[in-house]
Amino acid sequence: MTGKPIPEANADTRPFWDACNRGELLVQHCRACGHRQFYPRGLCQRCRSEDLAWQTAEPRGRVYSFTIVHRAPTPAFRADVPYAIALVDLADGVRMMMNIVNCDPERVAIGMPVNIVFEQRDGQAVPQAEPA
Ligand SMILES: [Zn+2]
Repeated sequence: MTGKPIPEANADTRPFWDACNRGELLVQHCRACGHRQFYPRGLCQRCRSEDLAWQTAEPRGRVYSFTIVHRAPTPAFRADVPYAIALVDLADGVRMMMNIVNCDPERVAIGMPVNIVFEQRDGQAVPQAEPA
């Protein structure tokens, strides 16, 4: 047990989280208008179509913005501080929030290229980013 929070999948998000457990990152693609979106939801956020499909996203991107956490939000994160939480723009055009791992947080910079890796948390793989 890591004690870290793990997601509670629902009907909209279960394919995403199941794919993470296979080491794969999925984004929703609207077959009506071509829009890609994250987080997963029941409707296209651009055109409201329900005709959504899953696509495998390239596991790489760039840091859009970030902050450094110095005070652990729960005891489970005490060993990790300080660490960076970032908004990452994936190469496939969606933005995800994740931690930057395997990196001194003082080295994180806006625009930094990253690769997506998966952190194991009590049976659920959670996407994180590390320097490319
Ligand atoms: Zn659409």
